[in-house]
Amino acid sequence: MASNAVMEETLQVLKDHKLRVTPQRHIILAYLVSHHNHPTVETIRDGLGKELPNIGSSTIYNTLNTFVDHHLVVELQNGDGSTHYDYFGSPHYHAICTNCGRIVDVTYPGFSDTEKSLEKKTAEISGYMISGNHMEVYGLCPECQIKLGIKPNDNEK
Ligand code: ZN
Ligand code: MN
Repeated sequence: MASNAVMEETLQVLKDHKLRVTPQRHIILAYLVSHHNHPTVETIRDGLGKELPNIGSSTIYNTLNTFVDHHLVVELQNGDGSTHYDYFGSPHYHAICTNCGRIVDVTYPGFSDTEKSLEKKTAEISGYMISGNHMEVYGLCPECQIKLGIKPNDNEK
């Protein structure tokens, strides 16, 4: 169950985006805001078993698509064949493990400036009117480096 603060915040987010507030939307958004696990539809359904016991995968999927359309949530592919979802309230990007599919959030001071410069350059070069970006960086996570017997030195060429 999401905290009262999260419930209030998500209610406001729905209103700000002119989205009709339904219990499904409110509870699913609150789940995404309070979990940083980049869940699939199935993970969300399992996680909301107590709050929304009768909710079907297709309702969750449709709700998520509405959030994606409003740029509240991003879709992520990590190579495991399913789509993962992430509330995108604050700027960050993802490091995705090409071996196990693990997705972690990454940000650092100045990342917003990097994004802005990327968008500005893209507009200049392509002539596109930019609406947003989403960066993903691929590699092997620390656990997989150990599992695969790769020494940290192997990275230093
Ligand atoms: Zn991994
Ligand atoms: Mn994320």
